[in-house]
This record gives sequence, structure tokens and C-alpha cells, in this order.
Amino acid sequence: EKISSQEAIRLEEKYGAHNYHPLPVVLEKGEGVHVWDVEGKKYYDFLSAYSAVNQGHCHPKIVGAMTAQAQKLALTSRAFHNDVLGKYEKFATEYFGFDKLLPMNTGAEAVETAIKIARKWAYEEKGVNEAEAKIIVCENNFHGRTTTIISFSNDEDARKNFGPYTPGFIKIPYNDTEALEKALKENEHVAGFLVEPIQGEAGVYVPSEGFLKRAKALCEQHNVLFIADEVQTGIARTGKLLAVDHEEVKPDVLILGKAISGGVYPVSAVLANDPVMNVIKPGQHGSTFGGNPVACAVAMAALEVIRDENLAENAEKLGNLFRRLMDDYIRNSKIVNLVRGKGLLNAIVINDSEDSSTAWDICMQLKENGLLAKPTHGNIIRFAPPLVMNEEQLRDCVDIITKTLKEFE
Ligand code: PMP
Repeated sequence: EKISSQEAIRLEEKYGAHNYHPLPVVLEKGEGVHVWDVEGKKYYDFLSAYSAVNQGHCHPKIVGAMTAQAQKLALTSRAFHNDVLGKYEKFATEYFGFDKLLPMNTGAEAVETAIKIARKWAYEEKGVNEAEAKIIVCENNFHGRTTTIISFSNDEDARKNFGPYTPGFIKIPYNDTEALEKALKENEHVAGFLVEPIQGEAGVYVPSEGFLKRAKALCEQHNVLFIADEVQTGIARTGKLLAVDHEEVKPDVLILGKAISGGVYPVSAVLANDPVMNVIKPGQHGSTFGGNPVACAVAMAALEVIRDENLAENAEKLGNLFRRLMDDYIRNSKIVNLVRGKGLLNAIVINDSEDSSTAWDICMQLKENGLLAKPTHGNIIRFAPPLVMNEEQLRDCVDIITKTLKEFE
């Protein structure tokens, strides 16, 4: 039954918790790089559900794998084995180069899992006791919204008045290896360093070249786990399979979510080698849905699409083109300060002199002009289209963006 945008929004406002602030557009269909609203208007998706829909909307191969598996067996829980989980774990561990995988559903759950693994590892490996184990995290991080994760968030909306908070986190500035070294030297009981290889939610902050490599070396030197949260940056988004691949860094613990399923179904995962992953024993961690047959079938298909369609290479090529074209525009812009990013994870930063609502107003106008994007924190607009975009479409999108920005100059 058809519903108008207005009515769909009214229902959400009346019957749904108001825990989001969405752009007022109601989508009903997606295919590749496009989505359609309930009135039939077509848009370029330039957010990809926060980098989950890297393979494009409703990719037939992924949807096909999902429906075929859902018709056969959808859920067993881990009370029993299923015939897909082992195959998926073999596939994914070979794909990413780790000994073992622990399946979860959402990004935040996978982050929580990684924190638990690191603490348990520190307990067993270094004799750190439960009261003392520390995880070093970065300022302006975003790792999810559970009570433990918000305990070390800088985002006041996400954190404030939800306490008491979970102890055991040391915060250092992002992209600061001196601060990391100091924290490692001054604290005896550090289990891990949890880091986004590029800070996505904070506004697509790309650290200096060499930061990740140096941070990994410091962790090794202090026998501390390097934990990479690639929920947003992973799965070809930045032009390599993983963002850490740009510096040939191998994390001790790798956190994946979002695009590991092409956005078709909630799937997340933690990967590590045996000495780390084996600290988790039966009964110590789990989830009813983690590792369910549909999730496993979907993730295998989604990862195959990344490889078969060369999406990392495409992201690299189109990302370079995007920043070059945007730079050409920004040089003469009065309202946009800069474009930054890697691969197809980019953002434009609005000048400080502009109103704090300018990014939102621009996104509203982009919507009118047929392109959907959303501000991150502050006056920053993130641009993260599906990686299946072609060059002609990307140029078309840049035309829409620059034409829209001109309306604000
Ligand atoms: N980590 C990072 C780096 C993220 O960007 C996000 C989501 N934006 C999360 C974790 C949380 O993922 P989820 O929303 O699936 O819990």
C-alpha cells in the first residue's frame, strides 16, 4: 500500500522514538548507486548508509544469496552448528589473512567483542588484573553507542547523562604517536590501542602518512594489541580492501561491519590470530544471531562482489578524480574550505565564517537537486557513494554538488 512522504514521516514521529534527525526524504527503492523516494523521485545515494552499501543497493548477487539461504535455513543460534558458518569463516579468514573470525551482527557489538578479547588477552598474557586493564582510545572517536563505548566518546550528545560510565579507557589525541608512546610508557596495564584508520564520524579525518605504521610498531614494542576499527573504512571504501593496507599494517585485532554484508543484512566480525582469539573459551561470548546462516551467505557473496568487481581499484580511481574535481571548484569558493579523504570516503569542510546550519542547508538543497548526503559533526559534509559508481555518474554527481554549492556562494 502506497504511503506519502508526509504520512511516513508523521507515523515515525508519532510512534517512533526520536533518536535520530534524518533528512526529510522517505526512500522506498534502491538499485546500484540510486535510491527512489515514495513519490518516485530518483537520487544518487552519496552516503551509502554510512559506508555499508559499498556494493550498491540491492546487489542481485548478495540479495540472491540471502533469499536462497533464508528459504533453506535462516537461524539455528549457536546452540547447534550450521552448514554455512564454517565455510564462511574459512573464506573470510583467508580473504583477510587471519587465523580466526568471531561473528557478530553490528559494528558496536564487534567493538565490544574486541574490547573483551583484548582485556582477556591482557589478563592471560600479561597478568593484568580486571580492575587495571586499560584500552587506549583516540579523541573524537566513533565506535558505536553501547554504554561501554559511549564511556570513551567525545560526542556529548551520545554520552551525556547516560552514565555511570565504564572505566578502563585512556584517551589520547588522534594522529599523535608521541601521545601514544607517552601513554604506553606511563601505564603498565595497557591491553590494546583501539583506533579508526580514518576517523569517519568525526568528519573524515585522515591521519598523517606513517601514523598507523608507527602506532603499530609502538604497540608491538610494548606488547599491546593494535585494534583497528574498520567498520566504516574497511571493505574497499578507501581504495584498498582495508584502510590499514595503505600503510601495510596488519592489526592484531580487526573489526569489520557495515559493508561486509553490502548493507543487505546486519553482519559484523572480529578477526585475529590464534594466540589472541583463543583466549575466548566456550560460553564466554556470543549472540543469538551472530554467525547465522543468512548472515554468512550474505557476507560471502558481498566479499566476492568486492573482489569480482574490483571495487577497491574503482574507489581509488574515482576518489582521486572526485578530490581533483572538487579541488578545482573549492579554489574559488567562498563557503567551502577544503575537501579531504581517501578513496570514496571524503568530506567537504565548510568555512568557519559560515552559519552552523550551512552544512544541513546544503544537504537539503542537494536533496532537491537529486543527491543525498548528510553532515557529520559540525559543518562537514561526508561524501561516500556506493563503490559501484562509474566515472560518468561521478562527474554527474560533482556537477550536482558544485551547482548546489554555487547557490550558496
Ligand atoms: N565503528 C565505526 C568506525 C563506525 O563508523 C560505526 C558506525 N558509524 C560503528 C563502529 C558502529 O557500527 P553500528 O552502527 O553498526 O553499531
